[in-house]
Amino acid sequence: MPPEESRPRAPRAPDDAPHAPAPTAGGGAPARAADVLVVEDEPVLAEAVRARLVAEGMAARVVGDGPSALGAAAAQPPDLVVLDLMLPGLDGLEVCRRLQARRPVPVLMLTARADEADRVIGLGVGADDYLAKPFGMRELVARVRALLRRVERARELAAGDAPAPDRDDVLRLGALVVDRAARRVARDGREVHLTPTEFDLLVHLGEQPGRVLTREQLMASVWDWADASGTRAVDSQVKTLRRKLGADVVRTVHGVGYALEVPRA
Ligand code: CA
Repeated sequence: MPPEESRPRAPRAPDDAPHAPAPTAGGGAPARAADVLVVEDEPVLAEAVRARLVAEGMAARVVGDGPSALGAAAAQPPDLVVLDLMLPGLDGLEVCRRLQARRPVPVLMLTARADEADRVIGLGVGADDYLAKPFGMRELVARVRALLRRVERARELAAGDAPAPDRDDVLRLGALVVDRAARRVARDGREVHLTPTEFDLLVHLGEQPGRVLTREQLMASVWDWADASGTRAVDSQVKTLRRKLGADVVRTVHGVGYALEVPRA
């Protein structure tokens, strides 16, 4: 198992999470920069995003409309897509839907207003996170890295080459069964498909059933990103979790946060 030898010599950030791999999405392939497809029709913003991602050691390509995005993703499947919601021709939602139908890929949606985010994530088209414009490049990079890390973690678990987990992989929560290794969820014996973000959120809540976690705590542990302005993303993801798994699964504690309620088997 030699993949570490051929990694670039750039120093790795100290891992504070035991299973957190390097912030690239190489899958099994060693030493490949994460390939990010940027879909944005405002050329100045598109170039700023591209330049920043490249400066961070990623490979980034830019397209300016929906059909080009689908073409570029088909020609070379990206590791992540940064996708503007308002695009000429085919809007970001439709692009996202078509991308996910072909081959699941993490999507960071760019929205013109924060209140569009609920709609975007609530629609369940497969967007994992969003950023409202105007956003800082540092925030963009943090979100991109967090998404790539999660995908890499999931791939390692699926490939079975992750360190042996020090706990039971399967959470049995009444009618809910969460297999953390296979990243699969079933309610009442029926499998439910969750996005990576929804899955991680469910796991964090499900590991301590009944305990109330604040939005900020969830933000920090699920998104790897603590920011009061981002906590709306938590609300949106809870909404989709309830829609997919049943409203009884997550309890809102007003003014505090959320807790997982074990549904009766
Ligand atoms: Ca636009």
